Amino acid sequence: MWRSLVWGKEVLQMGMRWRVGDGTQIRLKVDKWIPQPHTFRVISHNAIPENATVADLILPSRAWNVELIRRLFFDQARNRREDAASGSSVGNNSLSHQGWKRLWGLNLPNKIKVSLWRACRGFIPCADALFKRHVGVEGRCQGCKGGAESVVHALWDCKRVKKVWKLTFLHDVCTVWRERDFFYLFNHVAQVAHQNELEWFEILSWFIWHDRNKRVYGATVFDAKNLLERASCWWEGFLNAKGMVGCHDGSRQGLSDLREASLIRIWRKPTNGFVKLNVDGALDIHRGIYGTGAVVRDERGSCVGVLATPGTGALSPLTCEALALVNGLHFCVQAGFKYVVIEGDSLAVINALNGSEEDLSMEGGLIDEAKFLMSFFISCSWDFVPRVCNQAAHCVARRALSLPYPTFWWLMVPDWLSTIIDVEASS
Ligand SMILES: [Zn+2]
Repeated sequence: MWRSLVWGKEVLQMGMRWRVGDGTQIRLKVDKWIPQPHTFRVISHNAIPENATVADLILPSRAWNVELIRRLFFDQARNRREDAASGSSVGNNSLSHQGWKRLWGLNLPNKIKVSLWRACRGFIPCADALFKRHVGVEGRCQGCKGGAESVVHALWDCKRVKKVWKLTFLHDVCTVWRERDFFYLFNHVAQVAHQNELEWFEILSWFIWHDRNKRVYGATVFDAKNLLERASCWWEGFLNAKGMVGCHDGSRQGLSDLREASLIRIWRKPTNGFVKLNVDGALDIHRGIYGTGAVVRDERGSCVGVLATPGTGALSPLTCEALALVNGLHFCVQAGFKYVVIEGDSLAVINALNGSEEDLSMEGGLIDEAKFLMSFFISCSWDFVPRVCNQAAHCVARRALSLPYPTFWWLMVPDWLSTIIDVEASS
């Protein structure tokens, strides 16, 4: 129910009278009216008529029709999850219809779109299909020597291929998704992904298939990061040719923007002469304590300083994140760093740094303090990163929960952090 509360609050902030009002102006399935990531729209449901409006969810007493909302959205979502989990066949035509529409509408060369369409239809010559038609000698995957190489195995499930997907926006999906049908996977992505994410999904599928063919017909070593680099270079070239990179206005859709927009999820070293500060907060609500973590690394990815700060109090997640930033900045100011790049996984905090208005809330005070501390640097920039790029700080914040007092490590890495630092330094 928290979501409906949040959404009620948003609606109030935006002006309930005209925004939702009686709801007759907002089309339930088409308009962006839900504060939900990715689509901001209701994902297509058969049970909802095309011309339904938000008004249909409001009772004559002007309260939400909670019973109807639950039936329409939550139950349907659960059914869909159960369908997916049971691996039932793709029977929902409206889903596939939406998927195709998105596929053909993408800003990609036809060869890639056709290739993905073929994969969805099971028309690509993977080993299992050839074996079943008595063309191939073996149906097993040559990449992992594991099970049968179906389409979904070749493009998604093979453990080598998973290494690629784990570094993308599908990071969360790929650890849980066990789908026997590639078409189902595609439909899922088509429903939740932004346009550039869906394009990235298709480009990577295409590169994965081509690399797989190179492996079968000649020997090349599979390298997930190398594949990502080649795919993103190709994409940059494609966008360049289309004149979509290099504009100076805010509408530019350059690859670097797409990278920053979390399509590629790897911690990156700062540029020469800079240190990178990663910050994160952790809460233990039951014990009423919190922890903040800060990790400072140089251009080689080596750890310069680590700060873990425990504290007592029931902070809100946002306050805890803002406090983590302030603690990290204090650390950098005291250490005398002048060129600093800041990364955190709280979008609200990073956005607040961009704001110029005075904010009188508790976080507002912390944001003001952060801005003040940043004025000590000669150069300072900040960025939101997804959580997988912020693992080191996350780990330190968790550790802080079990420490009796603030602790820092200078020019050394505590044992429990060394694996993450080593992995990220080699990326
Ligand atoms: Zn395999």
